[in-house]
Amino acid sequence: MKVSINANRCESSPMRMFHPLAVAAKEAGKTIYHLNIGQPDLPTPRQFFDAIANFRPDALPYAPSPGIPLLIDTIRDYYKTKLGVELDSNDVLITTGGSEALLMVCLSILDPYTEIIVPEPYYPNYTTFVHIAGGNIRALPTCPEEGYQFAFRDRIEALITPNTRAIMFTNPGNPTGVTLTDEQMHMLAQVAKEHDLYLISDEVYREFVYGEEGRVPTMGKFMDEIADNLIITDSVSKQFSTCGARVGCVVTKNKKLQQALLKFCQSRLAVATMDQVGAAALYSVDESFYEANRAEYVRRRDLVYDRLKAIPGVLVTKPQGAFYIMAALPVDDTRKFQNWLLTSFDDNGDTVMFAPGGPFYETPGKGINEVRIAYVLCLEDLSRAMDLLEKGIARYRKEVMGVD
Ligand SMILES: *Cc1c(COP(=O)(O)O)cnc(C)c1O
Repeated sequence: MKVSINANRCESSPMRMFHPLAVAAKEAGKTIYHLNIGQPDLPTPRQFFDAIANFRPDALPYAPSPGIPLLIDTIRDYYKTKLGVELDSNDVLITTGGSEALLMVCLSILDPYTEIIVPEPYYPNYTTFVHIAGGNIRALPTCPEEGYQFAFRDRIEALITPNTRAIMFTNPGNPTGVTLTDEQMHMLAQVAKEHDLYLISDEVYREFVYGEEGRVPTMGKFMDEIADNLIITDSVSKQFSTCGARVGCVVTKNKKLQQALLKFCQSRLAVATMDQVGAAALYSVDESFYEANRAEYVRRRDLVYDRLKAIPGVLVTKPQGAFYIMAALPVDDTRKFQNWLLTSFDDNGDTVMFAPGGPFYETPGKGINEVRIAYVLCLEDLSRAMDLLEKGIARYRKEVMGVD
């Protein structure tokens, strides 16, 4: 029997590819500092658990397919008060995380052999969502020398063909942390409008922007100009440290698209009722919650950035958002280096993991000497992890590459 062509075109997660070696290293008694998994460690607001504990129906019902009205209205209120975006109830469809939002969007707008322009490096699950829908990713190249900036009109327009359906990006970026300015977002809106393309803005890191007092970037700002083009995907996972809640949404004012998305929503009946009840309570956190989280991530970003910057041969730009830093290391191949760190290296019994850069690229051979570092550890552990990375690079260069 066969598995499908579409299944074969999807990749396994690069964040987990060293899992077996990590298990073996732990069994051998090593302590591993994980910079490889992008899951927030800061506490989930208690409101989430309280709301679920207080929800005691006689029988637990299916939620409506587009989502429970309370959650939809709560999200509309957040968009209005925090982002200045007015939404009707139909403009918000609740999904099982941002992941299902992206999958349903791809299923709704792509046909076999159509294309979607995505700046690379990008979140690797995009490959799966696009390929399941039969489409292809056209990579918009960036480079570490330019700090992975991608908002260049000429470079984007050069990739547009009659098969192009959309431009998709994460803002702030995973894995790069690149955060768009309002001018850059406006340019992207203009390109989408002029070329009749969808613009998919994955905004799951919207609340994590540093050094710009409370700036919360959103393409929603340009909703009126590009109401038919714009699709925002969103999630509570990163925003509220609730990855296990599995609640996200698609926001769009495009009526035809809403109807298409609704069919997919109906086919899977509903998102978990309890998770939606908890999620609705999350939005009641006050501004101090976001401020405290941002302050902690800024300290972490600065530590990782300063430490990377001090290692000879490392190429890194200070990112303005999300909780990732992408950097080029002075090693031949970061997959080989990661393998070596797990099998042949330790410092007092400790070693470190990161996500190798290659799988974040569509173009073969790119990102070979790059890594993505997720700074979701406390400062003390991050500092130790950076010691290990620095020592590891020095020893690997000497012992494996034969250079100093
Ligand atoms: C984490 C993440 C998501 C979605 O995660 P969910 O838990 O499914 O909401 C979407 N896009 C990017 C870029 C992410 O990093």
